[in-house]
Amino acid sequence: MEARTFQSKCPECDAELEIPDDIISGEIVSCPDCGMDYEVKLTEQGEVILTPAEIEGEDWGE
Ligand SMILES: [Zn+2]
Repeated sequence: MEARTFQSKCPECDAELEIPDDIISGEIVSCPDCGMDYEVKLTEQGEVILTPAEIEGEDWGE
């Protein structure tokens, strides 16, 4: 078994994010550069998709 690390770029600031091989769908990763939180989704092809995590309970108001 080879150790694998998913590489993905932060959509916000283009920093490289290292995503552990044993990450599971729904886990949150934080960008070390800009601090954005992303929810990880794994596709059937084993690709990683990052979607900005919505922080619940925080109401920015309108
Ligand atoms: Zn970033």
